[in-house]
Formats: sequence, C-alpha cells, structure tokens
Amino acid sequence: MSADVGADVSPDGSAEPAFRWTSIAAVSAGAGTSLGGAARVLGSTARALLLDAAAAADTALRRPASAIPANRRSFTLPVRVLILSDENGRPLTTPDAVAPSLENADRALRTGASVRLRITGVDTIDEPAPAAALDPRSNRRLLLDDIRGHTAFLRRHLARRPALSVVGDPVTVVVVRTIAGRTTGCSLGMSADWVICQANLFDASSPRTYDETVLAHELGHALNLPHHHNRSNLMFPVSSPPDDVRGTALHPWQRAVLHVNRHLVPPS
Ligand SMILES: [Zn+2]
Repeated sequence: MSADVGADVSPDGSAEPAFRWTSIAAVSAGAGTSLGGAARVLGSTARALLLDAAAAADTALRRPASAIPANRRSFTLPVRVLILSDENGRPLTTPDAVAPSLENADRALRTGASVRLRITGVDTIDEPAPAAALDPRSNRRLLLDDIRGHTAFLRRHLARRPALSVVGDPVTVVVVRTIAGRTTGCSLGMSADWVICQANLFDASSPRTYDETVLAHELGHALNLPHHHNRSNLMFPVSSPPDDVRGTALHPWQRAVLHVNRHLVPPS
C-alpha cells in the first residue's frame, strides 16, 4: 500500500513528485538507528499501522452518526515549535507570529478529529543555523539529506531526553527560511517527528504568502495522513493565499487514522 505525502506547494505552484511509503528510510531525530534496518522496520510498521487504521476507519464509517457522542473526550497532540535564526543570529519569525497557525491547527483538529494541541514550547534557537537548515530541500531530497546526515543541526536541537514511551511524543514544527522549489512546508510523514514550515507563512504583512493552514497540513502528514483531492480538506496539497487557501475539513476516515497515531495521547 502506498500513500503520497509531502508535496506542498506555494501559490500557483505545482506539486513536486510525491514519494511512496515504501521508499521511506529516514529515522526520527535522535533515534540513531541504522538506516537500512530502520527502513525495513518502518516499512512493515507503516503497513501494519495503515492496516490497523483501515480497520478503525471501516468501523467508524459504518457507525451511525447518532452513535457518536456529541461531546466525545479529546485526544491530545503535543506540539513543539523551533524557530531558527539566520546567519546573523536574527530569528526568522516570532512566537506571536506563529500563534495563529497553531490556533488554526488546534481548531481544525479539534473540530474534525477531537484532537486538541498541547504546545510544549515555542523556542527560538539563537545560534545561527547553517544554510542546510535555513534553506532545506523538500520531499524526497529532504529525506536523502536526512539519511546523509545533512540535518545534523536540526537533529542536535531536536534531541531531548529519552521518552518513557513513544506514545505521546511531540511533533516539532521547525520554522526555516526558504524551502527549495515552490514548497512552503514539508513532512517526512510518520518516519520523522518533525516537520518544516517556511517563515513567510507566518508573516501577516505578506498576504501572498501568509497561510495559517500549512502548519496544520504538515502536522497531518506527520500523523500519517496522505493528500486528499478535495480543496476543502485540510490535506489538499495546494494552498494559494490570499484568495485560494485550502480548507480545514477532515473526513471520518481521517479522524480514525489520526486516532491510532502514536503521537496522540488518548482520552483518560
Ligand atoms: Zn502535503
């Protein structure tokens, strides 16, 4: 089974070729696993999770709407934001500028999937970032850069204490300067605990680039959601501000996929 992920484009851009789950070989930041073995393990894990998700989706879709509690208790998604600084030590954006996109992600996931965000931190890295981190490549090329160790700066700053459990591990949103091509956000899917978003997405004074949906869209990829063909859906691949921004809707099957993701803490 394959799913297209990661092709996200700027205004009027065309999506770059998406890669398939079967090609995923990256490991999450700080994991330090051998890549060949990790690819095989991740390949089988991805298939197992997708099969589980398909079963859950089937159950959800056959359930009558009246059987779904109106006030279901929410899952929790821990999210951290890391803002890089340029060669002169100047931060690429501010926590206040990122806040509306975080709020939009919380609103979309809460409404469509009963998932609320828990922000574990919005941190600025004062140390000037190298060009490879400030201006990363995207999709398959970012994956290759990760495999080859070119994301070492990010990995160092993403490193954290070993978690007691992989369940509830946060997804980190890294704010970078420019992503190669016409891409404004990128995720390596379920194989990485981090996504990247271009800084001008958060610049409210730039209506042609400001887009509050991209952060939520990339979180969706990190939580194993593939692209969706409907423009009103959060996972539609293209968003063109200011006049043609993608929607934030989610389908019941997408909610079911989210609810089996390891990053989410289930309701107690
Ligand atoms: Zn996408």
